[in-house]
Amino acid sequence: MTQYIFVTGGVASSVGKGVTVASIGRILKARGVRVSVQKLDPYLNVDPGTMSPYQHGEVFVTEDGAETDLDLGHYERFIDENLAKHSNVTTGQVYSEVIMKERRGDYLGGTVQVIPHITNEIKRRIALAAKGSNPDVLLVEVGGTVGDIEGQPFLEAIRQMRKDVGRENVLYIHVTLVPTIGATGELKTKPTQHSVRDLRAIGIQPDAIVLRADAPIENAVREKIALFTDVDKRAVVPLTTAQTIYQVPLMLEQAGLGKYIGEKFGLAERAVDLAQWQDLVDRLVAPKEKIRIAIVGKYVELPDAYMSVREALVHAALHHDRALEVDWILSEDLEKDRGFERLSKVDGIVVPGGFGDRGIEGKILAAKYARVHNVPYLGLCLGMQVMCIELARNVLESDEPNSTEFDPGTKYPIIDLMEDQRSIADLGGTMRLGAYPCELEAGSKAHAAYGVDSISERHRHRFEFNNAYREMLSEAGLRYSGQSPDGNLVEIAELRDHPFMLGSQFHPEFKSRPERPHPLFRDFVEAAIEFPRDGKQEKLL
Ligand code: GLN
Repeated sequence: MTQYIFVTGGVASSVGKGVTVASIGRILKARGVRVSVQKLDPYLNVDPGTMSPYQHGEVFVTEDGAETDLDLGHYERFIDENLAKHSNVTTGQVYSEVIMKERRGDYLGGTVQVIPHITNEIKRRIALAAKGSNPDVLLVEVGGTVGDIEGQPFLEAIRQMRKDVGRENVLYIHVTLVPTIGATGELKTKPTQHSVRDLRAIGIQPDAIVLRADAPIENAVREKIALFTDVDKRAVVPLTTAQTIYQVPLMLEQAGLGKYIGEKFGLAERAVDLAQWQDLVDRLVAPKEKIRIAIVGKYVELPDAYMSVREALVHAALHHDRALEVDWILSEDLEKDRGFERLSKVDGIVVPGGFGDRGIEGKILAAKYARVHNVPYLGLCLGMQVMCIELARNVLESDEPNSTEFDPGTKYPIIDLMEDQRSIADLGGTMRLGAYPCELEAGSKAHAAYGVDSISERHRHRFEFNNAYREMLSEAGLRYSGQSPDGNLVEIAELRDHPFMLGSQFHPEFKSRPERPHPLFRDFVEAAIEFPRDGKQEKLL
């Protein structure tokens, strides 16, 4: 039978609750416990797929094609297990389901209410996540903070769960911020006290509290919070800001949280195997030579928008014993002839995924820069598309080649809407999503990277390479090294006469794990290490 850990937040958002949950997952897994994680998001959107990255950061895509919260990326990277559609629940999904049932007549004669109908639907979805992967422990993170109006039904549902599955099978962990005030840098416990009081007013007494702070938390602070909140002092766990997020499991373990959870859940005293993780962290924090990579995108002031891309680069750099340094370059700057001197200082260029035409010309210029100067280039989804457009522009000596996404009337639609997208009008959840197989061409860089003939990768796109241009670009040196099994869809394109210029229609970043860097990122970083940056690449041409 599955046991549950519900994690709530207090005081402020963005304190790293997702990483904390992912880390708890890791320390449980280190005890041989089978874990899975679910995120409950209280917003009304059905999924984050239609939200701007400004609102939400990256949209993380699961194997089975769900567009989900970026915390799921942390969960997958930390617990090293694939999650699925039911691993992310939103208010939008819950209400859609209940209203659909009401229209169908399922509640005939009854008044449909938040309690019990909405809360039952939330609990049904938690049960689905537990049934789906049948873990020993399901970690459930409630998005937002206690006190948010839209979070109330979720908190009520997790409160009820205690009775449904038995008190001994449920733990509540509350993650709060402990701010420092003034010149003395005094740590303030009052916000945590208030937040726990709010939680108790809902009927939830936390079993453990994780205190997030930038400064070290002394014993006295923990004692005070333990006293005011009725939580065991050893379950008041300090978590100061780490040098890297991958340290968090070790910090929580060291603070005794894993042991405490184990005791509460009646797990036999098990050996804890975090040796590999410790080794990973040791290597991460050890001083080492840098590798500089430019990420050219349009949300560069908000690295959360490219969370998995950056993490995949961290993993690949670590594999080669390098420290990653990212130069975030706004693609629109390149359009204004700014930023090329920055490109001349990096060892490799990544153009990540994206939608809409803002900054697109700058991304095409970045691809041109990489091609002309032999700078290693990795294109992710849109990054592959702009690489193909740029090559076509060069072949045809024209600025006309484009994607119909950005210029519907272009004379040369190098990238065009996929056939089965043409009849689709709704924007939510209708892209080509999730894992699809891909066949690799022997002798290609892609094949050398993966070392196998067929792979499966996750997608999120509507547009594709237009096969009418295959021959023309093949003559210009482009190789279609990855294709769908029916040969219809270009999944990977790479330039023959270039140290490493490769783009994938899929998003390899979603499958990179700290201990298993993704092969394409790994080989891209290797090429970047070998790239002889000599400062001669100042100008675009
Ligand atoms: N906008 C492009 C498409 O829909 C690329 C999508 C992406 O980069 N994820 O095909």
